[in-house]
Amino acid sequence: MSEPIIALDGIRKTYRSGSLEFEALCGIDTAISEGEYVAVVGPSGSGKSTLMNILGCLDNPTAGRYLLAGEDVSTMSEAQLAEVRNRRIGFVFQQFNLLASLPAWRNVELPLVYAGVSRHERRERAVAALTRVGLADRTENRPGELSGGQQQRVAVARALVTEPAMILADEPTGNLDSRSTADVLDLLDELHGAGRTIVLITHEKDVAERAGRNLVISDGQITSDRPTARAGVSA
Ligand code: ADP
Ligand code: MG
Repeated sequence: MSEPIIALDGIRKTYRSGSLEFEALCGIDTAISEGEYVAVVGPSGSGKSTLMNILGCLDNPTAGRYLLAGEDVSTMSEAQLAEVRNRRIGFVFQQFNLLASLPAWRNVELPLVYAGVSRHERRERAVAALTRVGLADRTENRPGELSGGQQQRVAVARALVTEPAMILADEPTGNLDSRSTADVLDLLDELHGAGRTIVLITHEKDVAERAGRNLVISDGQITSDRPTARAGVSA
C-alpha cells in the first residue's frame, strides 16, 4: 500500500445553531491511500456531506486531526487551503453547480482562471477535458442546452482540468437517469485507472459497489469498512 493521502484521527463535527448542538460526526478514524477508490455510503443525514466538506477543506472539523498528504490541514494558511481546493482536489456535486450563463468550456476553465493560467492555455485545456468526457461537440453549449448527464460530465471535466490528485464526488449520480449514471461511473473508473484517488459519496449501494472499498457511515460514525467485489481492479 502506498502512503495515505488522507489520514483522519478522531474527526468530530458539531453544528451549533443558537443553543442547539448537533454532533454530525462523532469521531472518524480512517486512512485512504493514494490511488484508492473509496465509496462513503450511508443513509441520508448520516454525515456523508459533512465528511466530504472536511475532506475537501471546505469546512473545519470541531475536533480531531486531518492529515492531507502528510500535512496537518489545521496548520495551513488560507492561501494554502485555497490552493488545495483549487488544484489538488476536483469536486463533483449532485447539483452540478455550473454557471448557467457560461458555455461549457468557460465553466470548465474556471479553476484555471483562479490558478492564473493564460487565456490561450485555459481554452485548450478546457476543450481537452471536455473531449475526455465525450463532449467535444458541446463546448459552446450553455448548461441549459445540455441534458443532466451531459451537465454532470461538464462538471467532471471541470473537476479534472487542473489534474488534481484526488476527486471528491458527493452524490454525483443522485440527479441522473440510469444511462447517465452509468456514463459518470465509467468516467470515475477511468480516472481511477489513470491513478487518481477517488472518494465517492452515495446512499446507493449499487453505486458504492463500483468502488474498491466501502466505508459505511451511520449517525456520524463508521460502522463498517470493507473491500468490495471490485477491490484490486485496475490502478
Ligand atoms: P448526508 O450527506 O449523509 O445526508 P449531512 O452531512 O448533510 O448528511 O448531515 C448530517 C447531519 O448534520 C444531518 O442531521 C443534518 O441535518 C446536520 N447538518 C448538516 N449541515 C448542518 C448545518 N449547517 N447546521 C446544522 N446541522 C447540519
Ligand atoms: Mg449529503
